[in-house]
Amino acid sequence: MKTQECPRCANLARLSKRTFSDQALAALVVWNDLSEKLIDESICDDCYGELRDILIERIEEVKSVSPRTFNRAS
Ligand SMILES: [Zn+2]
Repeated sequence: MKTQECPRCANLARLSKRTFSDQALAALVVWNDLSEKLIDESICDDCYGELRDILIERIEEVKSVSPRTFNRAS
């Protein structure tokens, strides 16, 4: 299995692209849980799980974050 350094946590892991809604990404960037330059990058399972848990925990706050559109590569 090919592993690479995760751009978020620097662990060596298998990386893959994750899909979050623009609203969720906006919240994660505002909270500094995800760097804006990483929104279109592949991250590891641990980071994905962490971000997903944050979003679940703070779902009410996510709703109050202004939606924004991010430029994505594809
Ligand atoms: Zn990671």
